[in-house]
Amino acid sequence: MEIQNQTNKAPIRPALVKDSIIFKSTKCECHVDTVHDEYGVETNTLGIRKAQANVELPLQYLPRKGLSLLADAKKDSPDLLLDFVFIECGDSKALADFFSNYGFLFPVPEWKFARFDLQQIWALQKRLKYTLDLVAELQYHKKLQDAGEDLKQSLDTTEEIIHYSRVYQDVCQLLFSEPVTLTNPKSGKDIYRSCNHAFTELLNSPELPAWHEPVPFPVIDDSDKPEWTEKVKDPVRSPRFLLSNKDKRDAYDLVEMQDIDDPVRLLINPARLFDIFRRMDMFDRPLSPEQQEIVAFFYHAENELGHICLERGRDDFGFTKDLESAISIEAQMKKEKVKKYFDADMKRALIHVAVYVLKEEIDHNLHDVNLSYNAEAHSLKWDISNFLTALYYSIFYNQPGAERFRRCKNPECKRHPIFRLSNSDSRSVYCSRACQSVISQRELREKKKHSD
Ligand SMILES: [Zn+2]
Repeated sequence: MEIQNQTNKAPIRPALVKDSIIFKSTKCECHVDTVHDEYGVETNTLGIRKAQANVELPLQYLPRKGLSLLADAKKDSPDLLLDFVFIECGDSKALADFFSNYGFLFPVPEWKFARFDLQQIWALQKRLKYTLDLVAELQYHKKLQDAGEDLKQSLDTTEEIIHYSRVYQDVCQLLFSEPVTLTNPKSGKDIYRSCNHAFTELLNSPELPAWHEPVPFPVIDDSDKPEWTEKVKDPVRSPRFLLSNKDKRDAYDLVEMQDIDDPVRLLINPARLFDIFRRMDMFDRPLSPEQQEIVAFFYHAENELGHICLERGRDDFGFTKDLESAISIEAQMKKEKVKKYFDADMKRALIHVAVYVLKEEIDHNLHDVNLSYNAEAHSLKWDISNFLTALYYSIFYNQPGAERFRRCKNPECKRHPIFRLSNSDSRSVYCSRACQSVISQRELREKKKHSD
């Protein structure tokens, strides 16, 4: 009985005792500069060094606070992960303030300023934001699964489509965004490289893996008659899928159609995807079952939902048909004819794909975490080599299932559109009192308007 009580109380205890603070950051001095090269191309750089006073900032993990300043443990200390992720993109002053107060993502010198390309830092923040968003969506999905049929039935279909289109956007952002590289300005060595996902590598590598038996490639002719068909392995709509000559022609034609000046850019080469899908279980080094599911999922998604693309001047991905314009993922998935294709098989596969992609992304960003012996405390502790890794680590609380993330119910929330709460808490729906009062005042005004 006593043991039971202890487990119930566990979530309100600090995750780690004072001895096992796992990361020490240092305050920084920083500024943003705009430089022009010989052709007039503008680049914004962040100049940063350790503050002269060399103020060490011990950080620790607290329940429902994530990574926080040790000194602020009793006060309302900031959740550094959320504070960093939700700095508005482009607000370089807020970004510089964050690094001044809490230190830079990687170690910097104390006697001179190191310079980094600001665009790469924003790209890095964006990846962390999409990772966090995906964690929140997958936790929401699990909550729904655990809740049983009644609650699932009560979820309206629009809400469900919004949920899946968010998962789709997050997955594609992590797979197909331009890779991020931060270079040490002095040595020229890379300090950080973003995760290169196995599926992206497969799509982009110059050659396809070798396969066992060379199967004669069918001749493509101009007639629309599907004179050639082939059954291929299909983990999504198992067990087999019928590919035809026409499918191949459509995929190759789209590649031909693509022009460097097009206002939209395809993120997946359709011909390449076709070839991989057709051969994926015949490679000499076979793809893992998870990889095969990703390939099959994207083959269906590209052909049934639309071609995932990036429109010039935009940040989020969309779908395109004609390479001229794009439509948002959410708007496309709400269309009746698209909804029909996004069936239970595809929903299940998307969640599997999301879980796999998230695992690759987080594992990559935690590879610097090591377990070591703490001689003073006679215990083990986690060593974390830089602030960015500490932030990724802080997505998860040490006690599995104790915490989760939720989307703030204020649709215009700027503070923490995703916030952390205890897993058993089903009542908190706003990130802060401020958001709660914005919405309740709005509701009050609406009510008044109706009664007048
Ligand atoms: Zn909010």
